[in-house]
Amino acid sequence: MDIFTPIEKLKNVGPRNLPKLNRLGIKTVKDLLWHFPARYDDYTKTAQISDIEPGEKINIQGEVVKIDTRRIFPRRMTVINAIVKDQTGALKVVWFNQPYVANQLTEGTFVSLAGKIHLDKHGLYLSNPSYEKIFSFNKNAELTEETASEESQPIINYNEPKSNLIHTGGLVPVYPETEGVTSKYLRFLIQPILNNFKTEDHLPAHISEKYHFPKISEAIKTIHFPKNLGDAATAKERLAFDDLMLFQLKALIERRKLNQLKSVPIKFNKELIQNFISRLPFELTTDQKISAWEIFKDLEKSYPMNRLLEGDVGSGKTVVALMAAVQTASSGYQTIFLAPTEVLAKQHFKTISNLISGNNINIGLLTGSGAFINGQKIKKGEFKREVSSGAINIIIGTHAVIQKDVFFKNLALVVIDEQHRFGIKQRQALLRETDASVPHLLSMTATPIPRTLALSIYGDLDISIIKEKPKNRKKIITSVVTPLKIKIAYEFIKQEVAKGRQVFIVCPRIEQGEITISSNSTTKQLKLNTAWADAKAVEEEYKKLSQSIFPDLKIAMLHGRMKPKDKNQIMDDFKNLKYDILVSTSVIEVGVDIPNASVMVIESAERFGLAQLHQFRGRVGRDEYQSYCLLLSSTADKTTNARLKALVECDDGFVLAEKDMAIRGPGEFFGVKQSGLPDLGMASLANVDLIKKARFEARSLLKEDPNLKKNPLLREKLDNFQKLTHFE
Ligand code: ADP
Ligand code: MG
Repeated sequence: MDIFTPIEKLKNVGPRNLPKLNRLGIKTVKDLLWHFPARYDDYTKTAQISDIEPGEKINIQGEVVKIDTRRIFPRRMTVINAIVKDQTGALKVVWFNQPYVANQLTEGTFVSLAGKIHLDKHGLYLSNPSYEKIFSFNKNAELTEETASEESQPIINYNEPKSNLIHTGGLVPVYPETEGVTSKYLRFLIQPILNNFKTEDHLPAHISEKYHFPKISEAIKTIHFPKNLGDAATAKERLAFDDLMLFQLKALIERRKLNQLKSVPIKFNKELIQNFISRLPFELTTDQKISAWEIFKDLEKSYPMNRLLEGDVGSGKTVVALMAAVQTASSGYQTIFLAPTEVLAKQHFKTISNLISGNNINIGLLTGSGAFINGQKIKKGEFKREVSSGAINIIIGTHAVIQKDVFFKNLALVVIDEQHRFGIKQRQALLRETDASVPHLLSMTATPIPRTLALSIYGDLDISIIKEKPKNRKKIITSVVTPLKIKIAYEFIKQEVAKGRQVFIVCPRIEQGEITISSNSTTKQLKLNTAWADAKAVEEEYKKLSQSIFPDLKIAMLHGRMKPKDKNQIMDDFKNLKYDILVSTSVIEVGVDIPNASVMVIESAERFGLAQLHQFRGRVGRDEYQSYCLLLSSTADKTTNARLKALVECDDGFVLAEKDMAIRGPGEFFGVKQSGLPDLGMASLANVDLIKKARFEARSLLKEDPNLKKNPLLREKLDNFQKLTHFE
C-alpha cells in the first residue's frame, strides 16, 4: 500500500461507504490522509469516577458491570442503561437509540468512554458517550473492533490508563461534518494507515529547517493524532505553509506567463485626459487620480495589464476605468466593460454616456435582451457588425458580449465589474484564435480586501485601492432596531416615503441554499439544509408589509427565483419611482444605483457578515439626501450586537472587512470557492506572517530554480495543486 492506493482497497471501505467517501473527494489513501480534522475533543485526562463533576467532558476507563436495554414503545425509542465501575466508584451511562451498544459492551467488558457528564435528580451520568473496548493486544497491530477478538485478555491498569486510544482518549480528531461519513469512521480508517505512513517531503529541506517545520509524514501523523495542541498547531502551520507556498508559486508562474504575452501599448495622452477630467461634473479624489495613474502606466506596456481596482461602494471606480477606456478609444482601440447583470450594464451605459458626451466616442450596450448604440436601439446582428468594423469604441454589456460570435476589430482593454476571480476566465473567453495580442485587464471590486491579504490571494494581480470617498458624500446614519422599536422604524419609513424617498428592505436568504464545504484540497458543493430555514420568506414579508404595515404604499418584490426579464422590469420601475419600497433577497445587484433611495432596512441583520451589511448599506446615500440604514435584529446575544454596533460606528469598508474576517475567519469571509485555496491555506490567511514567509520562499525558489527542475517533487505537487485549484 502506498499513498496512491485507491481507498476501495482498504479493508474497511465497502461498497456502501465508497461513494460517500468519493463524494468528499477522497479517492486515494493520500486524499484520506489529507482530510484534516476541523478540531479535537480533548480527552487527554482520564478521570477517576469519584472525582468527576457535572459539565465536564472526560474520559473514564472501567468495567461494564451492568447493562440493560429498554424499549419505549410509544416513542419508538431504545434506552440503554449501564453501570461502569473503576477502582474509585461507579457511574451510570446512558445511550439513546443505539441498540447495538448492548451487544458490544456486554457485562464484564472493559471499556474506555468519552463524553460529557450530566446531572439529574438521580445523580451524575454520562450521556451518549463514545466508547471503545479495551483489550490486550499486540502492540504493532491496530486497535480495531475487528482485530480485538473476544479471547483477548482485558488489561486494565488503573495507575496507567490506556493511552493509545483513538476514539475516547487523548486529543480525538473531529473531522468536518459530512453526510454519512462520521468522524469515528474516519478515525477508524486513518489511524491504522498512519502507523506505517512515510512519504518523501516535497518541501525543500532548507525551508523546513529554516522555520523548524516538521517533515511532511510527521506533520500528517500529528495533525490527525497530536499529543498536545502545541504539536497540532505546528503541524497545521507546516501544512498551511505548503498550501500558501503552492498558491504563491502558482500565482508567480502564472504572472510570468502573462508577462510573456503581447498586448497593445496604449500611450498616455496628458492633454486628452486633462481635458476629460476638466469636463467632469465633480473633482476626482486623490485616490482616484493615483489609481488612474497606475492604470495608465500599465496600459503603456507591451504585455497585458492585470490589475484589480478595489474601492468601497460609491468610491467612484467607474470613472477611473472610464478614463482608461477613453484613452484606449482615442488611441484607436476598443474597450469592453463587463457587468455581472443586465441592470448594472444598463446603469453603466447610462452613466458612461453622460460622462463621455462631447468626447467623440461611440458607446454600445449589448445584453441578453437587446442592443443599443449611443442610446439608439438596434438589431443585434447590426450591433455585432458595428463592433467588428471598429465603429464602436466602448462596448458595455453582460456575458452576452463574450459569446463566440462577437468579433472585435481591435480589442485592447477589458474592464470587469464585480466578478469573482476577477476576469481571468472572461478574458480567456474573449481571445480569438486570430488575435495577435491579449487585451489589458482591469477588474473592479467593492469587496475591500486589505492589501497584504489581497496580494496573497490574488498574487498574480496588481492592485490599486481607492480608500477616499468623494467629498460630497453624507455619512449614512446607521442604527440597530430591536423588536421593541420596530413600530418607530415603520413610522420613520412612512415619513421618508412621504418626503418622496424610496426604501430597500432586504430579507435573509430563505431557500435551502448551497453551502460550499471544502475538504482535502478540493472543494465540493453539497446541498445542505441551511440555517436560513426559519427565516421569513420574501413573499411572506411582502405580504405582511403590503397588507398590514404599509397598505397605502406601493411595494415591489424581487428575488432570485424570478426571471431576469421580470427582475429588470422591477428594477427599472423602482428606479422610475413606480414603487416606494422594494423588498428583496440579498441577491439583488451589488452596485445598483437608485439615488432617490434613502433608507436601507436589513431584516435579521445578525445573519449577515459585516462586509455584506456594509455593501447593502452602500446602496443608499448616493445622492444629496441624508440616508439611513436600519439593522433589524431580534437577538439578545451580546457578541452579535457588538458586531452590529461596529457598523453603526464605522463606515470604512476596509476596517469593517478586517473586523469581519477576524470574527468569521477568512474562509467564511471570502468563500472558499472563490479563492481556490484549500481550507488550511484559507484558515491561515489570518496569519500575515506565514503569508509573508510563503511569498518570500516562493519567490526565492523560483529565482534560483525557475522551472522547479531541481525540486521535482514540489513541481509534481504544484501540478496537482493547479489541477485542483483552477481559478473560476
Ligand atoms: P463604485 O465605485 O461603487 O462603482 P461609481 O463609480 O458607481 O461607484 O460612483 C458612484 C457615483 O459617484 C457615480 O454617480 C459617480 O459619477 C460619482 N462620483 C465618482 N467620483 C466622484 C467624485 N470624485 N466626486 C463626486 N462624485 C463622484
Ligand atoms: Mg460600481
